[in-house]
Amino acid sequence: FPSKLPHVGTTIFTVMSALAAEHQAVNLGQGFPDFGCDPRLLDAVNNAMRAGHNQYPPMSGWPALREAVAAKIAALHGRRYDANAEVTITAGATQAILTAILATVQAGDEVIVLDPCYDSYVPNIELAGGVAVRVPLTPGTFRPDFARISAAITPRTRLLIINSPHNPSATIWSDAEMRQLEELLAPTNVLLISDEVYEHMVFDGGQHQSAARFAGLADRAFIVSSFGKTYHVTGWKVGTVAAPAALTAEFRKVHQFNVFTVNTPMQAGLAQYMQDPAPYMDLPAFYQAKRDLFMRGLQGSRLKLLPTAGTYFLCADISSVSDLNEAEFCQWLVKEIGVAAIPLSAFYGNGFDQRVVRFCFAKKDETLVEAAARLRRL
Ligand code: PMP
Ligand code: GLN
Repeated sequence: FPSKLPHVGTTIFTVMSALAAEHQAVNLGQGFPDFGCDPRLLDAVNNAMRAGHNQYPPMSGWPALREAVAAKIAALHGRRYDANAEVTITAGATQAILTAILATVQAGDEVIVLDPCYDSYVPNIELAGGVAVRVPLTPGTFRPDFARISAAITPRTRLLIINSPHNPSATIWSDAEMRQLEELLAPTNVLLISDEVYEHMVFDGGQHQSAARFAGLADRAFIVSSFGKTYHVTGWKVGTVAAPAALTAEFRKVHQFNVFTVNTPMQAGLAQYMQDPAPYMDLPAFYQAKRDLFMRGLQGSRLKLLPTAGTYFLCADISSVSDLNEAEFCQWLVKEIGVAAIPLSAFYGNGFDQRVVRFCFAKKDETLVEAAARLRRL
């Protein structure tokens, strides 16, 4: 039968993690921590199971968790979402994004993504029968190019997807850029998915500019986040989406027939654990220290490091190290140097190669020290 995704293979993250295991390399490719989470979070989930929270929760998610999410957004960004009508718990950000797309995109609708973009967006759009319109971020700086975004908007544009802090470039959108987007979208009916899974990883005193802070964006947005990133539990696959009631109603029509709902004890445990803001308020300092340790370790290597303002990724220009293209370089690096990385070309539709690779620094200090020592041999 004809493939629904004829151009899609296995994700680069799965491919690089398998190669890293095969070559006993230090895996700085796929983005996930190699350290554990807070034992208090494990206790909270355990307690929820033992308390008997093991049957289906409400379709939209565990009420106390929805309430905790709404309260956090209100405290941090000043917009009060209705926990009952405007917050939904999802099976990770991945399902939130797919479901938002399936709920809004009709056959032939155009969806603008900003390249480089996370690898699930475009296949999701295609599964919905939509047409992905790839607009590049400015090469070199990865800043949004509003003239190009504006030029890409047509009467068929249903949706724009943005992502800040940005995977893979580690840039964050400024307040001015969010305002510019708000102005640009004001005369349109374009909906927004704001992928904010790295919301709590911003460095050097920077401020995460959630779409929730901008009424003209929030009124049209699905704001997506992920507990996997914030609490070091990527394998739990629990995420959130906050959206105005009318958008949430359409989202839930799809969600109920997609996963129906998400596992109960983790939701109940997360609701308990969220009562303490310290774990996410402390995250910038925690990851900034890891970023700085890794960068210090790379002093003396010939990699040219790009700035990391947010996320747990560090990008490096390889042009003074190798003549290989990014993808070939990553293959070579894992086999010969014993470090796995991700080529940025994997996040572009046309395989655009700018000789930049991405390292994940969500790793134990000793992992980062070892990886840096290997990379200094370059
Ligand atoms: N969006 C971005 C930008 C991501 O980096 C990731 C995680 N790799 C996701 C979405 C998916 O998050 P989750 O694991 O919660 O599904
Ligand atoms: N988001 C992670 C990354 O960018 C990977 C998630 C996945 O493996 N699909 O590395």
